[in-house]
Amino acid sequence: MKNKRILGKAYDPKPVEEKWSDFWIDEGLFVPELPSSKKKFSMVLPPPNVTGSLHVGHALCFTLPDIIVRWRRMQGYNTLWLPGTDHASIAVHNVIEQSLEEKGLTREKVGRDEFMKIAWNWKNKYGGVIINQLKKLGTSLDWTRERFTLDEGFSRAVKRVFVDLYEEGLIYRDYYLVNRCPHCGTVLSDIEIEHKEKQAKLYYIKYPLLDSEESITVATTRPETMLGDTAVAVHPDDKRFIRFQGKTVLLPLVDRKIPVITDERVEMDFGTGAVKVTPAHDPVDFELGKKHNLEQVIVIDGSGRMTKEAGKEFQGLDRFECREKVLSRLEEKGLLEKTEDYQHSVGHCYRCQTVIEPNLSWQWFVRVEPLAKEAIRVVEEGKIEFIPPNWAKTYFEWMYNIHDWCISRQLWWGHRIPAWHCSDCDHIIVALETPQKCGKCKGSNLVQDEDVLDTWFSSALWPFVTMGWPEQTEDLKVFYPTDLMSTGFDIIFFWVARMIMMGLKFARDIPFRHVYINGLVRDFKRRKMSKSEGNIIDPLEMIDKYGTDALRFTMAALAIPGADISLSEERMAGYQAFANKIWNASRFVLMSLESEEFQVKEQELTLADRWIRSRLTEITGELDKALEQYKFYEAADKIYHFIWHEFCDWYIELVKPSLKAGNRTTEAILAEALDWILRLLHPFMPYITEEIWQHLPFSGKSLVKASFPKEDKRFKDKNAEKEMKFLQDAIIGVRTIRAENRIPPKQNIELWVKVKKEGEKKIILENQAYIQTLANIRKIEILDRFPGKKKLLKGVAGSWEIGIPIEEGVFDLQQEKQRLEKELSKLAQDIEKIEKRLQNQDFQKRAPKNVIEETQQRLQQLQAKKAKLEESFEHVLSLI
Ligand SMILES: [Zn+2]
Ligand SMILES: [Zn+2]
Repeated sequence: MKNKRILGKAYDPKPVEEKWSDFWIDEGLFVPELPSSKKKFSMVLPPPNVTGSLHVGHALCFTLPDIIVRWRRMQGYNTLWLPGTDHASIAVHNVIEQSLEEKGLTREKVGRDEFMKIAWNWKNKYGGVIINQLKKLGTSLDWTRERFTLDEGFSRAVKRVFVDLYEEGLIYRDYYLVNRCPHCGTVLSDIEIEHKEKQAKLYYIKYPLLDSEESITVATTRPETMLGDTAVAVHPDDKRFIRFQGKTVLLPLVDRKIPVITDERVEMDFGTGAVKVTPAHDPVDFELGKKHNLEQVIVIDGSGRMTKEAGKEFQGLDRFECREKVLSRLEEKGLLEKTEDYQHSVGHCYRCQTVIEPNLSWQWFVRVEPLAKEAIRVVEEGKIEFIPPNWAKTYFEWMYNIHDWCISRQLWWGHRIPAWHCSDCDHIIVALETPQKCGKCKGSNLVQDEDVLDTWFSSALWPFVTMGWPEQTEDLKVFYPTDLMSTGFDIIFFWVARMIMMGLKFARDIPFRHVYINGLVRDFKRRKMSKSEGNIIDPLEMIDKYGTDALRFTMAALAIPGADISLSEERMAGYQAFANKIWNASRFVLMSLESEEFQVKEQELTLADRWIRSRLTEITGELDKALEQYKFYEAADKIYHFIWHEFCDWYIELVKPSLKAGNRTTEAILAEALDWILRLLHPFMPYITEEIWQHLPFSGKSLVKASFPKEDKRFKDKNAEKEMKFLQDAIIGVRTIRAENRIPPKQNIELWVKVKKEGEKKIILENQAYIQTLANIRKIEILDRFPGKKKLLKGVAGSWEIGIPIEEGVFDLQQEKQRLEKELSKLAQDIEKIEKRLQNQDFQKRAPKNVIEETQQRLQQLQAKKAKLEESFEHVLSLI
């Protein structure tokens, strides 16, 4: 079995990652036990879009919870992390419709059934891309429970929820003004609209009064909608328009007679104070129209084209073409009074960035307020916690001002609304199964509603439907509510809030206890990543270059709750170096393990052994605490510094004399420490740790299910830590003196130590070997005071006063004197140059401020360096 202990020379992530990724899944290591007496820990994966491909946001959002779930699993929890994908109606439509367009087809031309066939084929062929990428990331998801928001179980559950809400009056249908994306061909909910400030124009149009020479001027940013005007409104108190109140104007281009009405809601300081009213194309006008019983004339259809109602001249034109035409016709007639620059907010589709068109149509809505009440309560009562907590404020602000949710979409890929319209009597039947007869007129001419449900409607059910709801499954009993949801702040409203509402309503409990909100991943200059900036970091490319573990560790190390992440390739390269460091240290450890049995004999424990055990137990406690509070950056920082700067830099060096002396206990502790470290690091870097661990002589089946170390009070050894600190100070001190005086590390030297306390003397005597090995000391002399005549390089290291005797071959005083002289004269020249430049008037006037500042800083640096060198020079002179 000796070969088991030999690691390859260099760490090559790719084959290692492939091997363990398959192994973990094939062996079912991510599948929870059922039944189980263990405590459970569960999560559901925020389902990525089936059209998606892994980006850095995903990498962050999936790595952090994986660290938690791996840690909990190792702690002995029965863990479930349930994966799946979202059917993403709009995104899939965009993909399929684009490919149809390339063939000169449209979805209407191919028809609903054929379209669905194409979409399912596409999903089966390409929908798995993100799944494989998730596996590559090392996420410990239970793939045997993988779900899709459009699978059969979801279809049943979605229908059930729809029918129940409808029957309770919480879903209704209404003829209402909604937001529509002409490009995506569907309406959207309020939160799917992105508002952007736009530089636009404000057009002043004259509306002539009927049977009068006078006219009233209205201002608008959307002149094409005037074709659908059914009134002009003024404020009742506006003196400028009193004489127009109750009069009739003749709508230009259309010649429709429309009234001048008064309403308190008219803003007197907008435009002229008189506004046009288009109930079918503006939300405010829609309300105004209802109040004043105005006609709703639809002049723009759902695809953004002008309707028949817009008049022969404009019918069929695109809304923006129509705008130009309306303007030129008004100008011809002398009715365009003036045009002004105007900045205002314009709604855009969050999927395709097309300008939204308000659209009057029959739609389905969820009455949200009663559901929101409960969802507010559970967060207020602390049953659900946001991390960081300030996100709860954002949540409340939205929830307290929530609007009804438009859930119907004019798409095909999705859950078709389980409502049937009777062609004979207009009655609507909402049912789980396709009805045969109209409940009112008993006719059988029933047509199912053409619309599908908003994708977010089904994803709101994700936490409990994935566990088998509406069936009362074992999974639901054991794993619901889940413990943690890790997601982006941008979908708190879209998703988190709705999951809470639906979970409380249908699964009768909160969907999760903690909501961890990730920061935004930016580039190293803290700029948003975007295609146009060309600063996108592709996680798959990073995995290829630096290995998955390095990518994962970078995500953890940068994840400070509440802060955005500033990602750079340098960081990843740094953690790749960390992986290599661990590999090399492990290689040394494994090669040093000669025993078959590893036994610790208390009396053989060295100071270094006691110290590393104490440090290991301490770091374990700190790690647990950091992870419990989701302080990933802190956990990563602690484990990184411990492994690199304590285990590798010190312990591995400190064991050498003891191993050489054949101390079997040190060998056992060395093995124990490596095993311990690998367990601590596994949640962050699963691949390299598993690979190394499998080479340990006493490894088990997989690190995935190995126990996470516990803080062990018996190993706490304050004395060992104090003594070790004392020795480390001395070793660092000697190394510093050597470096300052250019004594090469390989040069073997003598060390004099001035110690007065008996206790300290004892520590040195007992641990001489450490100092000798780590500082390359031939011999240590412990003295009460240094003899006056001997030439010494002196220094202070912690509580030590140390001296290195100057002897032949160690340190040539004459040579050092010459070197310092040369360096000092060069430095003086450099300083003079910079001083001259700073005194130059031209430079002071013309150079940019930051250049001047940098030059001044440079001067200060050189002056400080000069002072230090002069000190060394004096010291050397004193020794000669
Ligand atoms: Zn769109
Ligand atoms: Zn009927």
